[in-house]
Amino acid sequence: MQFADSTTAEADIVIGCDGIHSAIRNQFVVDKPVFSGQIAYRGVIPISALSSWPFPSYSVAWLAKHRHLLVFPISRNEQLNIVAFVTKPENEVADVKESWTSICDRQEVFNDFAGFDKTAQEVLSLMPEQPSKWRLNDRQPLDRWHYMNGKVILLGDSAHAMLPHLGAGAGQSMEDGWLLGRALSERLSGSTNSHFASLESTAQLYQTVRLPRAQKTQATSRAAGNTYELQTEDMLDKSFEECIPMIAERTRERMKWVWEEDLDAAYVKARDGQGLAPTVAGRGDELNAVNGMEKTTQPVSIEAQ
Ligand SMILES: Cc1cc2nc3c(=O)[nH]c(=O)nc-3n(C[C@H](O)[C@H](O)[C@H](O)COP(=O)(O)OP(=O)(O)OC[C@H]3O[C@@H](n4cnc5c(N)ncnc54)[C@H](O)[C@@H]3O)c2cc1C
Repeated sequence: MQFADSTTAEADIVIGCDGIHSAIRNQFVVDKPVFSGQIAYRGVIPISALSSWPFPSYSVAWLAKHRHLLVFPISRNEQLNIVAFVTKPENEVADVKESWTSICDRQEVFNDFAGFDKTAQEVLSLMPEQPSKWRLNDRQPLDRWHYMNGKVILLGDSAHAMLPHLGAGAGQSMEDGWLLGRALSERLSGSTNSHFASLESTAQLYQTVRLPRAQKTQATSRAAGNTYELQTEDMLDKSFEECIPMIAERTRERMKWVWEEDLDAAYVKARDGQGLAPTVAGRGDELNAVNGMEKTTQPVSIEAQ
């Protein structure tokens, strides 16, 4: 491996867990972010600054057509994290970056959330004068997470960066870490199971278990964003009141499979050859059809730099 400061290092394996803008992934795949149609204003405020806050440890959302305001307590329930999502045409957000450093004037938030109730207005009024304004990009599912005969393996956002609407990106990354750790430790402990015959087959076992579930989470995050803004096809001609029970039901269904998976059982099933997870290509095709995105799986370089 060669680093930007000209130093070099050698390793048997490189695990690319370097986030959404992964330099490791970029050695192998062209990153093609696609604007999701939404931006988010973000800020953190002290809960004690609110005149009252009746939802001490809950995540709370205000929903409307094309806008939704999500708040949840952090820092031992002392701070309120605010994420205010708005659907915008791409030509209005050309200068907004997919980055924490992009900011705007607070008045923009007030304008976009005019008409929300008193509590929501009070929350927004306490946001910093220049809240962050963040472009929400989506990415086509990546159908390959290991390269160079298993010597380079992707994990976390570098393998499956997703929209934030399920609050599941970090959880999915931890699932990767747990199962890659299990697979590598079985290889290193000399298991005779054929999945551990090489580094590549070990990496493939990790990918077989994790990739379909991570891609389902990516697709579901996208669908959840559209649901919260009442923009799914079956909601377009419905009133707000008609949409609310649909949103509640979909949210319940989604969070159930996100939270209740038995990871170890799925791993053992794949390892011992009973009912492998769906093939990578099949799953990707189905999800790409949902996204209307092109797949990008062509390596741009096969040499780690
Ligand atoms: C606003 C927001 C809210 C979110 N809310 C939730 C939530 O509620 N629940 C949830 O599960 N997920 C949530 N997520 C998603 C979650 O933050 C990510 O999915 C998760 O952090 C991914 O973990 P990671 O380890 O893959 O990448 P990261 O957490 O991005 O870590 C990557 C690391 O690699 C380092 N790095 C990058 N490039 C280099 C380099 N060239 N050299 C050396 N180091 C490098 C970075 O400094 C960083 O430490 C949210 C994300 C955002 C942006």
